[in-house]
Amino acid sequence: MTYFFETYGCQMNSAESAALDLVCRERGWAAAPDGEGADLVLLNTCSVRRTAEARVMGRLAQYAALKKKRQAGPCLVVAGCMAERLGETLKKSCPAVDYVMGTSARSVFPLILEAVEESRAGEGLPLPADEKPAFAFSSSHLEEGRFRSFVPIMHGCNNFCSYCIVPYVRGPEISRDPASILAEIRFLGRRGVREITLLGQNVNSYRWEGPFPGASSGVLGFPGLLRLVAREAEGGPIRWIRFLSANPKDLSPETVAVMAEHPAFCRHLHLPVQHGSNAILAAMNRRYTREQYLGLVRAVRSAMPDISLSTDILVGFPGETAGDLEETLSLMAETKFLYAYMYHFNPREGTAAYGLPGRIGEGLKRERLGRVIALQKEHTRELLASRLGRRAKALVEGISRKNADEIIARTERDEMVVAPGTVSLVGHFAELTLSGLRGNTFRAKEIHVCPGDS
Ligand code: SF4
Repeated sequence: MTYFFETYGCQMNSAESAALDLVCRERGWAAAPDGEGADLVLLNTCSVRRTAEARVMGRLAQYAALKKKRQAGPCLVVAGCMAERLGETLKKSCPAVDYVMGTSARSVFPLILEAVEESRAGEGLPLPADEKPAFAFSSSHLEEGRFRSFVPIMHGCNNFCSYCIVPYVRGPEISRDPASILAEIRFLGRRGVREITLLGQNVNSYRWEGPFPGASSGVLGFPGLLRLVAREAEGGPIRWIRFLSANPKDLSPETVAVMAEHPAFCRHLHLPVQHGSNAILAAMNRRYTREQYLGLVRAVRSAMPDISLSTDILVGFPGETAGDLEETLSLMAETKFLYAYMYHFNPREGTAAYGLPGRIGEGLKRERLGRVIALQKEHTRELLASRLGRRAKALVEGISRKNADEIIARTERDEMVVAPGTVSLVGHFAELTLSGLRGNTFRAKEIHVCPGDS
């Protein structure tokens, strides 16, 4: 039996696809190179933008045509946020879809595989029709052959930023049992993983009530979990820990202190600011101010002077004035992000911002986005250039696609480096000197495996 996945959207979808992939492999299924001859095709979808949904509808039409041509199969499964948002109506708009598997119903996946194995794909699954299954975390999100792995620790979001569909499609926040998180980390270490990223839509609002390692009951918050994870990793194969995405309003001084105290936490933090104007931050319902954000940046940098910061910036929100844009540009100049994901506002049906007055015209949105991108490029170049000549530690991730005699590695500050090297270095931590820059990628002349890691 063979399967083919197409994954759209965020890291949570990538992690969940990796978990489903593992379920297939453990059942003896093999990955197919494409959907053409596969027995099962799964589209793990994203609803954040209308364009992402339109792309999936286009792919579904192509798979519907393939099914007609083949006369049988593949079993077509739609998973992820679109499945959660549209539910069974998806089947009405595309009858070729066999199963719609919402984000809270992934536990039915083995039943779908069983149905395909028994040639009864498309038949109903033995689930009570009125039961909405609860979200269940998979036990592992290992991607075959990778040295970095996501470890989801929470799911959903309670924040309702006015432009965002996520709370509607991913539901309220649910935190994962810390014992299961630690068990996954142990498993990943045994399978050769060297770096993990704790993942959640709003990762630092993690909150577990009940027993956890070291306490028979109580409340475990994000900093407490970070301590447990750091202790679990200590002395083991997993040497680097990251987390994503941290919400500025939930970044506590204790979290910053734990990061600073444990060298396993990489010196990089993605802290989405979205905007630099207090009026727009309030309209976005972000629940922090520009001053609070800048205060956080100062606190993080004072605790970890060598840390790099990255962010998300959304321009062209309804009502944004030229002055508001200047505030964003000045916040960028004050903070100097290593990189940023920059985008302009796209109204999304079902969100609070959809009906807001003061929409900005497409041309002006693009022009403003262009200014933000141009400034970010300057900052990226400036920050990277300031690192030339410095020593850095990096995890070797693979062989360069352009040159088989070169490896590609990532520093703990999330910078990419290319250096001469062979496959024997892949999966090792190495030390190097950042001696040159090509685009945004560093070059190093030599690379040495870190002591104790050969
Ligand atoms: S914090 Fe805001 S932007 Fe992030 S997932 Fe929640 S609602 Fe969306």
